[in-house]
Amino acid sequence: MNPRPTPQIFAFLPMFQLIFLRSRRRVLRSVMGAALVLLVASCEKPPASAVSEAGAPPTARSGKLKVLTSFLPVQSHATAIAGGLASVSQLLTADTGPHDFQLTPADVKRLADADLFIVNGAGLESWLEELMAKAAGSDHRQRPIVVDLSEGLQLTGNPAPFAATGTVEAGQNPHTWLDPVLASQQTAIILAALQKADPPNADAYRAHAAIYTAELEALDAEFRATLVPLPNKNLVTFHDAFPYLAARYGLTCIGCISEFPEKDPPPQQLAALIEAIRRAHVGVLFAETGYAPDLLKEIARQTGARVSELDTMEVGTGHPTAYLDRMRQNLAALEAAFTP
Ligand SMILES: [Zn+2]
Repeated sequence: MNPRPTPQIFAFLPMFQLIFLRSRRRVLRSVMGAALVLLVASCEKPPASAVSEAGAPPTARSGKLKVLTSFLPVQSHATAIAGGLASVSQLLTADTGPHDFQLTPADVKRLADADLFIVNGAGLESWLEELMAKAAGSDHRQRPIVVDLSEGLQLTGNPAPFAATGTVEAGQNPHTWLDPVLASQQTAIILAALQKADPPNADAYRAHAAIYTAELEALDAEFRATLVPLPNKNLVTFHDAFPYLAARYGLTCIGCISEFPEKDPPPQQLAALIEAIRRAHVGVLFAETGYAPDLLKEIARQTGARVSELDTMEVGTGHPTAYLDRMRQNLAALEAAFTP
């Protein structure tokens, strides 16, 4: 970061403040919180996190295995592997993302009625412990088994925003699903959990997973073939959701815009990001599906960049091809941005 931005940059700060206030009213209705902070991101790789599993095995049941998933990518993977042999439903509704999910009594009942609860882990579902405690305290039959899809994954360092808001543990970035290779590792964890909980269908689950894993490998091959040869893949995104994808395909994380509740935009970090964008000759800034892009558009105007969009898949409903479809849309946006 450059702690001494030019006078020209400071001249635009009142405009940024106004845009920020307009944007916030809309953003409050979307996934994350209110105010805004800019930072220049790094892509470090600390050691993998510890993973825990809670709950007891499901008792004898009638009918299909009941699987609850936390959000869209997990739902997509789980429905693909279940193939209709298990009942798979998604906890977060279409307009709520995992960063700001608010528990309701209905959620507690859904959890208590499930045999398995599959989560992304790495701190993304920061409300998990409270939800499990409430489910355990209800009068339903028992807690489900929690399946944590961050188990065994190499997690990347997380810069200030999420650690500061307490939504993830310091040193971990939870956005593992946006790397197709890590997504494939996550599906292996889902397969093992389904087979263990529902042995009569173990072979069918394995067959479904083989097909789905081949799809993920094809997706990885498409990303690699498309992105790796492109030059100057300097990435600026709305929030710090792409360090795993960036590391996989040779993109450089220049910076991101993120949000802190109840805080104003820090001018020095705003100026630092603008300086970083100029230094790296960033041509495209990526807004995010479901978020107000006004500030990003203004930064683009000041730096001569244009605005595109990436989908973090934190909002929406999963189905067997949702993850694959949305990742291919992301690939198209990245290819268009980085093609000279
Ligand atoms: Zn996120």
